[in-house]
Amino acid sequence: MEKKGLLIVLSGPSGVGKGTVRKAIFSQPDTKFEYSISMTTRKPREGEIDGVDYFFKEREEFEELIRQGKLLEYAEYVGNYYGTPVDYVEETLEAGKDVFLEIEVQGAKQVREKFPDGLFIFLAPPSLSELETRITQRGTESAELIRGRMEKARKEIEMMNLYDYVVENDTIENACEKIKAIVVAEHCRTSRV
Ligand code: 5GP
Repeated sequence: MEKKGLLIVLSGPSGVGKGTVRKAIFSQPDTKFEYSISMTTRKPREGEIDGVDYFFKEREEFEELIRQGKLLEYAEYVGNYYGTPVDYVEETLEAGKDVFLEIEVQGAKQVREKFPDGLFIFLAPPSLSELETRITQRGTESAELIRGRMEKARKEIEMMNLYDYVVENDTIENACEKIKAIVVAEHCRTSRV
C-alpha cells in the first residue's frame, strides 16, 4: 500500500510572517510539499490572484461550502471567513504527497482534532512589540484593524503549547530552514516509517 502524505500545518499570529515564510518555502525548487490554497471572503489585496493566493468567494458561497461539508476547517477572522478545501487535502494526502496549510490558530485547532497525526508548527514572533511594528509597517490595515489583530495575537501566543514545534521567525531563511528540517525529521519518526 502506498504511504499517505504528511499534513503539515504552519500557524501563528497574523503579521508574524507566515505568508512570507510559506512563499519563501515554496519558491525553493527542492520543496516537495503541495500548498493547499485557502478560500476566503476577504477582498483581494493588490497583486493577489484568484486561484493562486486564495480562492476569493462571496459570503453566501462560503456559507454554502460550510453547509456542504466542503471545508476541513474554517474560521472567521477580523470579519472575513477563511477555510481549507477538504477534497484537495484528502486527495493529495491519499496520493502520498505532503500537504502544507498556512492558517490561523482557530483553524489549526480544528485540524488537530481531525488529523491528530499531522505536524503542527507554530511560527512565533521574536517579541510582541516586534509583531506590532511588522503589522503597522505593512501599511495595508487601518488603526482599528491593527488593534484587532494585536489583541488576537496576544491570545494566539498563549496557544503555542498546543503545537509540536515552535519556530521563531527571526529571519525568513532561518525559519524556512528549520521548518524543512522538522519535516524531514518527522518523516524519519519510527511511528511513520
Ligand atoms: P490574510 O488576510 O492576511 O491573508 O490572512 C489572515 C489570516 O488568515 C492569516 O493568519 C492566515 O494565515 C489565515 N488563513 C489563511 N488561510 C486560512 C484558512 O484556510 N483557514 C484559516 N483558519 N486561516 C487561514
